[in-house]
Amino acid sequence: MRKKIIAGNWKMNKNLEEGLGLVSEISNMLKDEYSGSAKVVIIPPFLHVAASTKLVAENSRLATGAQNCSNHKSGAYTGEISADMIMSCGATYVIIGHSERRQYFNETNDWLAKKIDAVLEAGLTPIYCCGETLEERETNAHFTVLETQISEGLFHLNAEQMAQVVIAYEPVWAIGTGKTASTEQAQEIHAFIRGLIGKKYSSDLAEEITIQYGGSVKPDNAKELFSAPDIDGALIGGAALQSRSFVDIIKSMN
Ligand code: PEP
Repeated sequence: MRKKIIAGNWKMNKNLEEGLGLVSEISNMLKDEYSGSAKVVIIPPFLHVAASTKLVAENSRLATGAQNCSNHKSGAYTGEISADMIMSCGATYVIIGHSERRQYFNETNDWLAKKIDAVLEAGLTPIYCCGETLEERETNAHFTVLETQISEGLFHLNAEQMAQVVIAYEPVWAIGTGKTASTEQAQEIHAFIRGLIGKKYSSDLAEEITIQYGGSVKPDNAKELFSAPDIDGALIGGAALQSRSFVDIIKSMN
């Protein structure tokens, strides 16, 4: 059975004290309030990853991740963070290709494919983000855009590597806007992505891949989104910055 994964991407929010406070609150609330099956991944800014990981070490439901990493292993790349460094902090997931990285830092699918390799080589799990802009959806280009993002970013992997990847479908028009894709819209795309993987690899592999939805997931829409057969969790931005809303979303998943 494929894994259900709910991840909170804090983006560039929370200083160290605030961040560690939030991690502790989430950990304690989950112990008291949640007995479901989802794995929960906290993805703070790089600087907080090591300390956050120590705080969640006792709670097997919780893991940590990073929001990005270098495609290089080490060397003269001032300001960069390698996958091995993330691994050495005890984190296990890395977001690759968030739309903000694509949009503000010009990260292309080819570039992201190299980052995916770096993450897998370090033994970490990539959460590969894909999603169309509003204009692409309105011009009916979204299926082509998604197919290109998935094939150029991931389809150089062999089946064993592909089985390690988590995909997050995040329509750009729904990120941070308060506009969520309807459950039908999200389900349609998740099934489409699973179909692409099935065609390239096998239907067995496609069935095993976790595909998260991301884009204005909130406590009041999570349950319905999670009821769709191909939605295996969520990547959450704004609502992950408060323990109550994040934990309430998690509690929407059995
Ligand atoms: C995100 O940044 O990945 C995201 C989904 O943000 P939000 O939940 O705020 O839309």
